[in-house]
Amino acid sequence: TEVLLEAEGLKKYFPVTKGLLISKITGWIKAVDGVSFQIRAGETLGIVGESGCGKSTTAKMLLMLEDPTEGTIRYQGKDIQNATSDERRAYRSSVQAVFQDPWSSLNPRMRVRDIIAEPMVINLNLSRSEMQDRVAKLLDDVGLSSYHANLYPHEFSGGQRQRLAIARALSVEPRVIVLDEPVSALDVSIRAQIMNLLKDLQQEYNVSYLLIAHHLATVRYMCDWVAVMYLGQIVEFGPTRELFENASHPYTKALMNAALPSHPDIEQEEMILTGEVPSPLNPPEGCHFHPRCPFVIAQCSTEVPEVREIAPGHVVSCHLY
Ligand code: SF4
Ligand code: MG
Repeated sequence: TEVLLEAEGLKKYFPVTKGLLISKITGWIKAVDGVSFQIRAGETLGIVGESGCGKSTTAKMLLMLEDPTEGTIRYQGKDIQNATSDERRAYRSSVQAVFQDPWSSLNPRMRVRDIIAEPMVINLNLSRSEMQDRVAKLLDDVGLSSYHANLYPHEFSGGQRQRLAIARALSVEPRVIVLDEPVSALDVSIRAQIMNLLKDLQQEYNVSYLLIAHHLATVRYMCDWVAVMYLGQIVEFGPTRELFENASHPYTKALMNAALPSHPDIEQEEMILTGEVPSPLNPPEGCHFHPRCPFVIAQCSTEVPEVREIAPGHVVSCHLY
């Protein structure tokens, strides 16, 4: 399958400064520290990890909301950093986003029809009636109706608002949608509906997803490929089924133990791991996970583990392999 979007050696370091008038950089927060992956046409890549692992910063770089400190983002083989302004505009239209909070991501003063049409006004050259037809079709595709076009966001529930955000993202027929925790803010009872909707729309629109999530159940259900991130790095990556059946990195195992079916409320997942996530300002030497790892061996605290392929497409970064 065609590789649409590719990240190679992506890093994002934020300076830590001291002093008011003359500020001095005293350190760097390595929010994302050398991340590489590919997103293929029509497929879903999931990035999973605890908050602060760098998954949202990775998403922001792909959306051109943050500039990488280092590394390359290629869209259809082209480096977007070196692209012309026309190419960058086309890229921004081709890579859309749906964010976690459906309450703050929609302008409360705009009617639904204008919210959904806004990306089309910016990116496409459509007549008024073409745009109206498209808004009606999009509302229908996300399970709402053209009746809703004249309403304001406050007249919708959280799940309905997320449907609106999805319609808006789809309006310019993007090739990729970055879904940053798209169901985390919703009631558990609504989550499956929205995930099923996203799956159906992926077929209909042939769109790829980058799904950012901290719930393993969400990535398992939605994704073709899963990357597990810890302190700015991908520690395990593989095809979803292989990764879930043969989870190998101790961090991935810990995440999974936390998400066992003995916890029917998937809300529980995020609470399983013991110990604080260390600060990305001073990440532990060697393997970043070693202070929390139950399998730690001598070299873990001094040597950075290499990335090894343990099954086709399944890679893990740990001294045990
Ligand atoms: Fe644990 Fe060592 Fe593997 Fe890191 S490299 S996950 S500390 S066993
Ligand atoms: Mg986040």
